[in-house]
Amino acid sequence: METGKINVQTENIFPIIKKFLYSDHEIFLRELVSNAVDATQKLKALSSLGEAKGDLGELDVTVMLDKEAKTLTIKDKGIGMTKEEVEKYITQIAFSGAEEFVNKYKDKASEANAIIGHFGLGFYSAFMVAERVEIITKSFKDEAAVRWECDGSPEYKIETADRTERGTDIILHIAADSEEFLENERIDTLLNKYCKFLPVAIRYEDKQLNNTNPAWTRKPADLTDEDYKAFYSELYPYADEALFHIHLNVDFPFNLTGILYFPKTKNNFEVQKNKIQLYSNQVYVTDSVEGIVPDFLTLLHGVIDSPDIPLNVSRSYLQADQNVKKISSHITRKVADKLDELFRNSRQDFEKKWDDIKLFIVYGMLSDDKFFEKGTKFNLLKNTEEKYFTVEEYIEKIKATQTDKQGDTIALYCSNTNEQHPFIEAAKNKGYDVLVMDTPLDSHLVSRLEQTNEKLKFTRVDADTIDKLINKEDAQPSKLSDEEQTTLKPIFEGQIEAGKFTVMFESLSETDQPVIITRPEFMRRMKDMSVAGGGANMFGMMPEMYNLVVNANHPLTSKILVEANADKQSQLAKQACDLALLSQGLLKGEDLTKFIKRSIELID
Ligand code: ADP
Repeated sequence: METGKINVQTENIFPIIKKFLYSDHEIFLRELVSNAVDATQKLKALSSLGEAKGDLGELDVTVMLDKEAKTLTIKDKGIGMTKEEVEKYITQIAFSGAEEFVNKYKDKASEANAIIGHFGLGFYSAFMVAERVEIITKSFKDEAAVRWECDGSPEYKIETADRTERGTDIILHIAADSEEFLENERIDTLLNKYCKFLPVAIRYEDKQLNNTNPAWTRKPADLTDEDYKAFYSELYPYADEALFHIHLNVDFPFNLTGILYFPKTKNNFEVQKNKIQLYSNQVYVTDSVEGIVPDFLTLLHGVIDSPDIPLNVSRSYLQADQNVKKISSHITRKVADKLDELFRNSRQDFEKKWDDIKLFIVYGMLSDDKFFEKGTKFNLLKNTEEKYFTVEEYIEKIKATQTDKQGDTIALYCSNTNEQHPFIEAAKNKGYDVLVMDTPLDSHLVSRLEQTNEKLKFTRVDADTIDKLINKEDAQPSKLSDEEQTTLKPIFEGQIEAGKFTVMFESLSETDQPVIITRPEFMRRMKDMSVAGGGANMFGMMPEMYNLVVNANHPLTSKILVEANADKQSQLAKQACDLALLSQGLLKGEDLTKFIKRSIELID
């Protein structure tokens, strides 16, 4: 037997690293199993080159727990190591990586968590949970087996061993403070988390736990819709079926494969619980993909696998990385292309899915200019008849009937088909079309669409009286003189909450309602946007503002004007105002009770 001293200057680096990497101790298992898989893959490669001779046998990796001996063993049948190689790769390379790590990150404990692996710390991470580590290994080359042992101090022992079969056992003698890793269930969970799709069979407790050939590593041409569905359930066993998938496959200028799924948004909880998983050569790394996938796509599900993403460095580094930026914009482009293709090839199907995917798309269009550009081709507007149009198609549809005297085409929309029903009806009676814009992002989208389509304006159906929504000709002559309006104004003002309503007169048709309540588009939209944006700006704090529009040409207005009995006069005005409030759903509580009582009196 020989002993040696690991060539490190920093004394006792083990406890330092142990402390640094505290929250990530569990990844030791990922690192050791990955090493075992690498050793197996290398053997296969050598065999195919004719450098490793003979029948290789079944090449699996076995994880074994021995509670009594307090050991966890990772066993592979890979290339193994000769004595020279153990001294070189384990003692010098692995440990010098550790030293470099400690020197660099001594003062930056917060950065350290994400750094493991970056400096070839893989094998070394065993010491986060083990007080002693043994390696028993026999190389595929015709040389004696080796036993190496180290207890976490810079001293190690190395000797020949009598092992005859090719491969490597890494035996961890679990430390007293890490006994959780002697729990069967813990190991089972960890293996399922990190090793579920490794390319070599991983066995634990007599069962193979991984799928060595997951869908994303296969060619799209070899996969059916059923395969994609099955893989989705493999990833998220309890999730509803996804709407559709995008298979990513890039090899230049970086390497990336993966499958992204558009989930149904109706089950919000599941949508947010299931996340995109990031893999590096089929080794699970993380499910926090912020910075790699654009924000609006983090709501998607699925898998991204890339050996080119620097996985073990900090978030801030990742966000500045040029490769990562390219990956992010590539994924955005792929998603846009796929949506475009779906739209062009199966529009009916796309329309069926629209309500479910709209949120992603609008969010994407608002947060990414490139996506906005591509999105205009397949972003759909839905009208109250549940028909779908692209913006271009829609402008074409309404141009003839809904262009005002300034030449602007006015798209009318509602945010709630129930609450705004009277306005929708009025617009339809006039031959206008009404869109449904009922998500929180719609006010932002509408503003963006106005910026990009110069002659297009959006107006909510209740923003003004029907004639003024789309102002085509000059107003009809008013039946009320200015003086008469001045007389009537205070009578109406006396019936409503001051500060919330502004009374104004308009010469509408006799068949329109006598009093109409509208919410000016600009003020309402600013308020909606500030709510959707989450910030409390001046618009967010403003009270709700309405216009109370009195129809100067309605017979009831003339009747109120000439009524000699002041009580009767204000009763009529009050009734007209309440009817307008009622049709907007604004008449509530005591006011509603009074209205009903007054209505009965009036009928009497
Ligand atoms: P990395 O895997 O990043 O190179 P590690 O510290 O995990 O760093 O391992 C160092 C080296 O030790 C590996 O590159 C490999 O040559 C060797 N090694 C580790 N585990 C095994 C194993 N199970 N079988 C054969 N060689 C191994």
